[in-house]
Amino acid sequence: MTHVDVAVVGSGPNGLAAAVTMARAGLTVHVHEQAATVGGGLRGEALFDSEVWHDVCAAVHPMAAASAFFREFDLSARGVSMMQPPIAYAHPLDGGAAAFAHHDLVRTSDQLGADGPRWRRLMEPLVRHSIGVTDFLLSGQRSLPRDSTVPLLLGPRVIDHLLRVNGLRTEAARALLTGAAAHAVGVQPSLPAAAIALLLGHLAHGTGWPLPHGGSIRIAEAMADDLRAHGGVLHTGHRVTDLAELEARVVMLDTTPHGLLALAGDRLPPRYRRALARFRYGPGAAKADFLVSEPIPWTNAEVGRAGTVHLGGIRAETLAAENAAVRGEAGEEPFVLLVDPAVTDPGRAAGRRRPVWAYAHVPNGDTRDPVPLITRRIERYAPGFADTVIAARGVAAAEYEVYNPNYPGGDIGAGALTLTQAVFRPTPTWNPYRTPLPGVYLCSASTPPGPSVHGMCGYFAAQAALRREFHLPSPSLGPRDRTVVTDETRRTS
Ligand SMILES: Cc1cc2nc3c(=O)[nH]c(=O)nc-3n(C[C@H](O)[C@H](O)[C@H](O)COP(=O)(O)OP(=O)(O)OC[C@H]3O[C@@H](n4cnc5c(N)ncnc54)[C@H](O)[C@@H]3O)c2cc1C
Repeated sequence: MTHVDVAVVGSGPNGLAAAVTMARAGLTVHVHEQAATVGGGLRGEALFDSEVWHDVCAAVHPMAAASAFFREFDLSARGVSMMQPPIAYAHPLDGGAAAFAHHDLVRTSDQLGADGPRWRRLMEPLVRHSIGVTDFLLSGQRSLPRDSTVPLLLGPRVIDHLLRVNGLRTEAARALLTGAAAHAVGVQPSLPAAAIALLLGHLAHGTGWPLPHGGSIRIAEAMADDLRAHGGVLHTGHRVTDLAELEARVVMLDTTPHGLLALAGDRLPPRYRRALARFRYGPGAAKADFLVSEPIPWTNAEVGRAGTVHLGGIRAETLAAENAAVRGEAGEEPFVLLVDPAVTDPGRAAGRRRPVWAYAHVPNGDTRDPVPLITRRIERYAPGFADTVIAARGVAAAEYEVYNPNYPGGDIGAGALTLTQAVFRPTPTWNPYRTPLPGVYLCSASTPPGPSVHGMCGYFAAQAALRREFHLPSPSLGPRDRTVVTDETRRTS
C-alpha cells in the first residue's frame, strides 16, 4: 500500500468531511470503505424496482442545510438541489387532528390556536439567531459561542422545556415539539432532547428540513467528487481490520469507539481502552422501506404535504414509548418517523409507484421485523395504507450493524445521547478527536457534536489533526472563495 499523508477509515458524511477538509489543505488522502459504495448513512438503493430509489438510512436533512461545514461546502453550488417540502413536518393525532410546522412561522402559529403566540415567542428569536444557535449546538462543545446572545436565548428555553414544555398547553403543540425532541432517541424529557427540539424546531422555520433532489446519496457524491478533484482516492469493498494495514502519517477513523478498540487493540493504553469500553449505545432503529401504489391515505389530508411525519400520538404517548425503548422494553406502539420523499421531490415516484421511508425507535438489539409494527402505526393515522403496499423490506435493529458497523444493535446515533455522552463523546477528554496513539483520530458521530448528517465531527477532527500533525490552517471548502455568511449578513442582505 502506498504511503500517504492521511488514511480515512469509513466514508460516512463525517469520514468524507474529514477527507475533503484534509485534501483541500493539500494533503494526499485515501479513504477506505468496507461497503461496495461510499456514503455510509447517505447510501440508498433501488430496492424493489429499478426506477424507484430508497434512502437506506438518512432521508431528510435539516442539519446538512444548516451546519457550518455544509454552509461553507455549499451543496447547491455543486448542483445538489435541497428541495423544501410544502410543510417541514407534521404530527397527526387520533380522529384526524394534526399539528404542522410550516416554513412560515406566522402560519404555524396561526394554526396552533391558543398556543400560537407561545410557539412564536419560543421560535422567533432562535430563527433570528439561527446561525449562532446552530453553530453552538453543533460545536465541539469545548468553546464559548461566537454569538453571545445564544446562551441567553437557549438557557432559559431549555430549562423551560424541561419544566413545562415551554408553556405549551394544547395537545397538538405539545406533540409537535415532542416529535422534534424525539429525534434525540433517548430519555425524555432530558437536556439533550430539549436542545434537539429547539435546534430542529427552529430550523423548520429557517433553513428548513429539505431533501436532496434524487436522494441523500447526492450529498455523498458531491463530497466524493470534491475529494477526487483534490487528489483524494476512494477504496471500497474492504473492511479495515487492523491499523497496521494503513501506511499513513495520520489515520482518521469514522468508526465507533468499539471500532477503534477492534482496530488498535493492545496498542491503546489500558486506561483509555477501559474508557472506550465503557461507552454506551442507545436504543435502536428498526427500518421499513415500502414501495406503494399511491400517496399515503392520511385521515387528515394536509399531513400528505409534509416532508417528515412523526407518528407518536400525544406527548405522553411519545414519552412513554421513547422511555420504554431506553429501558429495553419492546412496545407495540413505538415512535415512528416517516418520509414520503415524492411529496418533496416528485421525481422520486415512477408513475404511481413511490417509496415510503419509515423507522421506529425500539430497544437496542431488537430482533422484531419492523414491517408489521410500522404498518400498524401508519394505519392508525392512514387507514388503508396496507392496501397500497406493493413491496416492503424490514431491517430489524439487530441487523443494522451487519450493514454498517457504526450502528451497534441498531443505534443509529453511534452512541447513546445521554447528558454525559452528549458532551464527553467518546471519553471525558479536552480533545475528543485525538486518541493516545500518535496520529490516530476519531472523526465519527461518536464524537461531538454527535449524530446526524452535518459533517461537523469529521470537520472538527480534521481541523485538530491539521493543526497538530501538519501545522496547517483549516482550508476554504467552498466551490469558490466567498464571503462567510453570518446571521448579521443574512439579515441585512
Ligand atoms: C435508518 C436511519 C435513518 C437516519 N435518518 C437520518 C436523517 O433523516 N437525517 C440525518 O441527518 N441523519 C439520519 N440518520 C443518521 C445519520 O445517517 C448518521 O448520523 C450519519 O450517517 C453518521 O455519519 P458518520 O460518518 O459518523 O457514520 P456513518 O454514516 O455510519 O458512516 C460510517 C462508515 O464507515 C464504514 N466503516 C466502519 N468501520 C469500517 C472499517 N473498519 N473499515 C471500512 N469501513 C468502515 C461504514 O461502512 C460506513 O460506511 C439516520 C440513520 C439511519 C441508520
